[in-house]
Amino acid sequence: MVYWAYNLAGIMFHDITTLLLDTRAFRDTIDLFVERYKDKDISVVAGVEARGFIFGPPIALALGAKFVPMRKPKKLPGEVISEEYSLEYGTDKMEMHVGAVQAGERALVIDDLIATGGTLCAAMRLLERVGAHVVECACVIELPELKGRERLGEKPLFVLVN
Ligand code: AMP
Repeated sequence: MVYWAYNLAGIMFHDITTLLLDTRAFRDTIDLFVERYKDKDISVVAGVEARGFIFGPPIALALGAKFVPMRKPKKLPGEVISEEYSLEYGTDKMEMHVGAVQAGERALVIDDLIATGGTLCAAMRLLERVGAHVVECACVIELPELKGRERLGEKPLFVLVN
């Protein structure tokens, strides 16, 4: 896998933008997700801002599913529902447009990386609040030492690299 990690003031930042420079690696990444979900009857791919917006749309197009952005506060113009979630220091909020997802839809949540799992949990709560079924969460990278997988509980998580 072609991505770099930078030590930023003691925190290792895993940067997927180098993967995007390699057309073969980017295509293979998308294909691996599509292959896993192509027969799972997914109707919604929910991508988490910001890097879930890079991987989500090509997967959604290949699956014939819609893409729904899960955004930071005050970015979406219409009526939203929101969920607060904890970060290492403080809290943040995630928002989704009302009406973007219907009850009973089958959703895949996608982001570039899972660390503590708080971000993916907030995305799942938004989808479940409107009655959607989250089939799985998927990321390119998992940082297993931060135990995000445990925070997701029963919900399955698929990653390409850990
Ligand atoms: P968490 O909610 O702790 O699982 O954090 C996941 C979110 O934060 C994802 O949207 C990642 O893009 C970002 N993130 C957290 N830690 C890192 C890291 N070490 N390198 C790159 N992105 C990170």
